[in-house]
Amino acid sequence: MSESTPDFLPSLVGSMSEGAAGNPTVEMIEAAFRHHGLHYRYINMEVASADLADAVKGARAMGFKGFNCSLPHKVSVIQHLDGLGKSAEIMGAVNCVVQRDGKFIGENTDGKGFLESLKSLIDPAGKKIVILGAGGAARAIAVELGLAGAGQITVVNRSTERGQALSTLLVDKLQLDSNYVPWSGTFQIPADTDVLVNGTSIGLYDGNATMPIDLTTLKPSIVVADVIFSPPETWLLREAKQAGCATLDGLGMIVNQGITSVDYWTGVRPEASVMRTAVENALSLS
Ligand code: NDP
Repeated sequence: MSESTPDFLPSLVGSMSEGAAGNPTVEMIEAAFRHHGLHYRYINMEVASADLADAVKGARAMGFKGFNCSLPHKVSVIQHLDGLGKSAEIMGAVNCVVQRDGKFIGENTDGKGFLESLKSLIDPAGKKIVILGAGGAARAIAVELGLAGAGQITVVNRSTERGQALSTLLVDKLQLDSNYVPWSGTFQIPADTDVLVNGTSIGLYDGNATMPIDLTTLKPSIVVADVIFSPPETWLLREAKQAGCATLDGLGMIVNQGITSVDYWTGVRPEASVMRTAVENALSLS
């Protein structure tokens, strides 16, 4: 092997996950590379938790421009990196690693993708936001909305530990007005809510999965967003449309987080429509 990477070899980025490979992200990122004539390849690498340190070392040795990481590596990868971007540092989770001047820097593009998508309908600055869920996706979204100047964030979650932890993080690290509401019975959406976000996994692969919220409290003035991208039309979004609300599906978030990742790795901000079509094809939606 030569010491420098020959021109004819593509730059590599990829995805480290413990689960099965072959997700829509691969199709979406590769479509962006092809469309923009970028000499890059995106490859899925199944990495067991015990091998994560070696995998990151390997990525360094092979000159990777970066990589995505998904569960369960989003937190544990941090110890193997050289630094963190602002939101990744606040939320303590990384889904996108970027090589900058030979250093691996951890970023979190999930929340950024959501924010970009939401901004097409409403600017969250000063707004009252209710987030259902307190897992990785909800955490990323809440921190990014906080950084974008959200006025108030109510975290509604089934498990008290995670829900309270997220609300406390928003107060302590972002000095945000935030409270935690236990999700025990049927949730009543506060009347002054501007944006309601489903950040839970309810609805994943089941467009009829319901959730305990009082639909009479779903006012038409509320923008309703869902992180679920498969299927993109969830029960919540259907009910919200019927109530006259503006809605956002999870495809916008996945596409926008992909756009930011490609931009970080290559310096090129790819065409959204090309990526969205690739995701829709991968999910057999079109
Ligand atoms: P986590 O496992 O970290 O969190 C799951 C969350 O859902 C928790 O808050 C959990 O509550 C809640 N939850 C799950 N089932 C129920 C239920 N039956 N009733 C009430 N609450 C429930 O997952 P992630 O945050 O990583 O992912 C959440 C979803 O977001 C996934 O479906 C994922 O596919 C999607 N996602 C979409 C992205 C996109 O780009 N569109 C990007 C990233 C994720 P509790 O704490 O009580 O267990």
